[in-house]
Amino acid sequence: MKPSPKTLVQLTPIAVAAVMALAPPSAQTVERYYARGLYPFIQGNLTALSNRSPVAWFDVTLGFLLLIVTGSWIYWLRRVRREKSIKPIARGLFATLAGGSVVYLWFLAAWGLNYARPMIETQIPFDESRITPQAVRGLAELAVREANRSYAAAHAEGFPAIHDWPTALSDALHQVEREFGRPSPTRVAHPKTSMLSPFYRAAGVSGQLAPFFLETLLNPDLTGPERPAVLAHEWAHLSGYAPESAASFVGYLAAWRAGPAAEYSAWLDLVSESTNQLQPVTQRLVLEKLEAGPRQDQEAIRQRLKALVRPVERAAWSTYDQMLKSQGVEEGVRSYSRVVQLLIGTEALTASRLKPQAPSR
Ligand SMILES: [Zn+2]
Repeated sequence: MKPSPKTLVQLTPIAVAAVMALAPPSAQTVERYYARGLYPFIQGNLTALSNRSPVAWFDVTLGFLLLIVTGSWIYWLRRVRREKSIKPIARGLFATLAGGSVVYLWFLAAWGLNYARPMIETQIPFDESRITPQAVRGLAELAVREANRSYAAAHAEGFPAIHDWPTALSDALHQVEREFGRPSPTRVAHPKTSMLSPFYRAAGVSGQLAPFFLETLLNPDLTGPERPAVLAHEWAHLSGYAPESAASFVGYLAAWRAGPAAEYSAWLDLVSESTNQLQPVTQRLVLEKLEAGPRQDQEAIRQRLKALVRPVERAAWSTYDQMLKSQGVEEGVRSYSRVVQLLIGTEALTASRLKPQAPSR
């Protein structure tokens, strides 16, 4: 029996998706042709398109997909009753698989292939032997000192509003990504808020890169001092850094060059990130040095996070963990602390234009 043209149309995306899942391209191929070729082109155009409207196109896409899936299944189930046969169910499953494959391929082409790039530490000088408990403590102490130092200037400058896109931050990102070899500057996404905000609130999600139209979605509850660092992280994802650790690393480097508010925001974020890696006693000793101002900002963040619904948070994290693992990032949620390893193992802090004191060893 020859397959009908309709069957062939449905079979093609399934076959391509299966090939991409079972025999993915090598990291070098992805870096050369996708990350440094196709992706910057796709990114520039998709983000320019979605920047045209303040509405989150991600929400519209999700709503549209939900409508199509529900509508189609109502149709197939009615056919089952009318035809008194289960054949429409088979047709429905096949069409759903084909549709799912199209969405998966869209995700891969628009952003997801960035997961298959070589790890960032293979592309810049990285010395693993520098990562010692003393160096981690040194980094935490540095973050505390720098947060104390930059607090007043940051508050004098003021923090961006939730929908702002500070040019100092995008300029800094362009500088950092150029140093890392991106052929053209990222078209930054105008930050949007989403229908998913209640979920972000419940799950403690600060922001998200929405993969279909390459948008930046932010949790509207973020406090002022949090916003520049979160925005820098999300824009680093947009630049093509998929793993959390790489996005945080690139985000910090950009924020540290982007004026007082962004600089302070990044240091304050690193205070939590780095002190979280310390033993409780050391952590207390290091955090004692944090002055009243930054401490107050930290308390405001803690208050915001109090609204977290724990079971939702756990479910969200384990789903996210699964997703990361399925994308080949072995450490899963543990990859967050890898940003500390990246900061210490590379010369990022000593080579930065800021030239803060290197963490003591
Ligand atoms: Zn992220």
